[in-house]
Amino acid sequence: MIDMEAIKKRDENQDDVYAVADRSALLAECEQLREALLELASQRISRAVLASTEPEICRWWQEDESLPDSGIWETDCGLIWELIEDGGPKEHDMAYCLKCGKPLEVVNEEDGDG
Ligand SMILES: [Zn+2]
Repeated sequence: MIDMEAIKKRDENQDDVYAVADRSALLAECEQLREALLELASQRISRAVLASTEPEICRWWQEDESLPDSGIWETDCGLIWELIEDGGPKEHDMAYCLKCGKPLEVVNEEDGDG
């Protein structure tokens, strides 16, 4: 740990800070400060990256649930896609979104085959 109080006290006494005898100690403290700042910056960047991470899936749903056979689907990533034949994306063996490439997940799909 860096003793910030000790550094402040020494900074108040310019003669001591710039004394030749203290130069190596000062450099060592600078190195410690540099490492501490790098560590802090690294942690903050990691948190920012995590916070901005997009969902790992792309949800697909029927455009109009009152027309379950419309075959028109909307997605999280803004794609509108029409499936001409019966069945949803899963029935068409679609595991990934055509636009964004994430694993697709069907929501609000009624499980009626007949
Ligand atoms: Zn997508």
